[in-house]
Amino acid sequence: MMWWRLIIGLGGSAIALAIAGRRVWWLYKLISSGQPAPGRIADIPQRLMTELREVIGQQRLLRWSVPGFAHAFTFWGFLVLGLTIVEAYGAVFDKDFHIPLIGRWAVVGFLEDFFAVAVLAGLATFAVLRRRQDPAKIERSSRFYGSHIGAAWQILGMIFLVILTLLLYRGAQINTGVFPFGDSWWAFASMATAKVLAPLGHGANEAIETIFVLAQILVIMVFLVIVVYSKHLHIALAPINVLTKRDQVVALGGLPPIMSGGKPVNFEDPGEDDVFGKGKIEDFTWKGMLDFATCTECGRCQSQCPAWNTGKPLSPKLVIMDLRDHLFAKAPYLLGETAKPGPEVDLKALLRETHRDEHSVPEAGYPRVPGSVPAQALRPLVGTAEEGGVIDPDVLWSCTTCGACVEQCPVDIEHVDHIVDMRRYQVLVESNFPAEAGVMLRNLETKGNPWGAPPNTRADWTKGLDFPVPRVGEVEDFEYLFWVGCAGAFDDGAKKTTRAVATLLHEAGVSFAVLGEGETCTGDPARRMGNEFVYQMLAAQNVETINEAFGDRVTKKVVATCPHCFNTLANEYRQLGLDLEVIHHTQLLAQLVASGRLKPVSPVEGGVTYHDPCYLGRHNRVFSPPRELLATVTVDGATAEGDGFVEMGRFAERSFCCGAGGARMWMEERIGKRINVERVEEALGTGAKTIAAACPFCLTMLGDGLTQKKSAGEAQAEVEVVDVATVLLRSVRGGA
Ligand code: SF4
Ligand code: SF4
Repeated sequence: MMWWRLIIGLGGSAIALAIAGRRVWWLYKLISSGQPAPGRIADIPQRLMTELREVIGQQRLLRWSVPGFAHAFTFWGFLVLGLTIVEAYGAVFDKDFHIPLIGRWAVVGFLEDFFAVAVLAGLATFAVLRRRQDPAKIERSSRFYGSHIGAAWQILGMIFLVILTLLLYRGAQINTGVFPFGDSWWAFASMATAKVLAPLGHGANEAIETIFVLAQILVIMVFLVIVVYSKHLHIALAPINVLTKRDQVVALGGLPPIMSGGKPVNFEDPGEDDVFGKGKIEDFTWKGMLDFATCTECGRCQSQCPAWNTGKPLSPKLVIMDLRDHLFAKAPYLLGETAKPGPEVDLKALLRETHRDEHSVPEAGYPRVPGSVPAQALRPLVGTAEEGGVIDPDVLWSCTTCGACVEQCPVDIEHVDHIVDMRRYQVLVESNFPAEAGVMLRNLETKGNPWGAPPNTRADWTKGLDFPVPRVGEVEDFEYLFWVGCAGAFDDGAKKTTRAVATLLHEAGVSFAVLGEGETCTGDPARRMGNEFVYQMLAAQNVETINEAFGDRVTKKVVATCPHCFNTLANEYRQLGLDLEVIHHTQLLAQLVASGRLKPVSPVEGGVTYHDPCYLGRHNRVFSPPRELLATVTVDGATAEGDGFVEMGRFAERSFCCGAGGARMWMEERIGKRINVERVEEALGTGAKTIAAACPFCLTMLGDGLTQKKSAGEAQAEVEVVDVATVLLRSVRGGA
């Protein structure tokens, strides 16, 4: 009998391992055909800590408690059940096999059974969640909309079979006296199964033991093959993707520079072969390709995306899936397995022959040309349906770079970097971008600000203040360079914030100076738009100006009111050799209030809510200081019900964008509901009369949304959108 067990168990495993190994080798060749991605394995100890936290500890998954625990128990279950796989293989050779040393410990038997049951509980939870979130019923509101539904059920079925065969062979082992843990109730689930099987008699149990030891091994081997050929590849790739993520907290904040051949492009003297952004799937780095292959299709990113939630065609999940499916379909051409069609081939004619893939949804671009057909090698990466594009331009330009997708992704996929890289190619190589944004880019080039305002009016906001605002060069020394920003200098609403901040700093006795006309746009809108050339030009100018302003000081402190300026100054100028200590005005003001240098005296009436700007919150993890400030002007003085601070449903890491980031501020929002209106409705839902923000663009977007709501009679006249600094100043001034 034993030789049968050996032939089937080992022979089946050998065949499955050969099939899986062939696929793994192919995947390795494909992913390593990507461009170099330097720095992804630097600082190994920290990377290993992240691995422990995120993979072993399931930290990011557990942010969503119910599916998080279901996944965590399934994952931990499979780690522990690794022991049972060893036991099953051992039993193929020797029915009495036990793992040396620990193999007869009752506690090990208990843990194996506990996790077997926990995995079953996880499966039941997944099944309920998938039924509730069935895209066939709730369509776009489902986070699984556009995911491979059949494949997900298949995997749930396979995991169920793993546990079922496990319990059956263990139950039969107890009845035939070969169970490594004896017949105690520590292995409670196996014991319960044994009780069910016992009436069948010894002979039948011996047959059941053989059949299900082999079934267990074969199910695991089939599972292995399915995993490497399906979206469940993430089981193998997620640990590598997490280990090689860009930053060790969350891959947001600064954008990486344009890389070509593993080196940053020098815009003053670009190389002849330099590629500006990603115009073809093979332009992505191996890490980009690893990202695409790792997507679990869980749809967490999609569920948080402001573009998707307001009816636009952009889903970060579908972007990643489209890039993955295109990469895999184009692979035979990239790996030289199939000859690329020559330039004489007519793509349009090929496109007419294509059909839609069964899992396709209208928002997915890949299925416009499914499969490894010749058109796959020729189609554009970004293009309309008629052009056969993998990513539609409406998808690409809908992104606000808010970072909600990156924040939520359990396997650390870097959506924003990929989207901006594709924009870079469209702008710098194809000159193909929303026309209205062209005005903003021209203004940046000619006037150094997106509005095209005369640069010599940059300091006009100081007029009428009852104290002098010192300029760099006019004062001997200053602690902070006050970076005003274009909005802070030219936009009427934002100028109120600038004046409020300057007044508060003056009243607190903080020494600061401004650059006045010497300041120019940091380049954030150009960079998010994809125009790295304009960004580099503006950044170089600012780096020189800031260096001159600080002279030979070692510590260069800057306070900024605009989170976009804050982010660029703090995270991106470092790439150009300028290290600054940048603080947002809400952080500095919170310190001044905490140290007693500013004293809020009168409370804000009518309740306050706070909107987290994406580039302050998610991108730079500044969540508390604005709230601390608002707490000082609400809680202490709260007298009437509703005068306190109230959070919106989506706040902090899960805050909902205002719609202005990613240079969307300068583009028309033609598709779906306006993002700012969606956010204002959420703010109005709190009942607060003051909607506080800490970003000039958020103020504009939310202000516009509120005006629209007021004109429709859907918001009370006294509701207002103001910066946290303005709220504080009013309180410090006693409500004046
Ligand atoms: S960055 Fe924001 S808008 Fe862009 S895809 Fe991600 S969630 Fe959507
Ligand atoms: S959150 Fe990450 S893994 Fe999940 S669908 Fe989005 S990109 Fe894929």
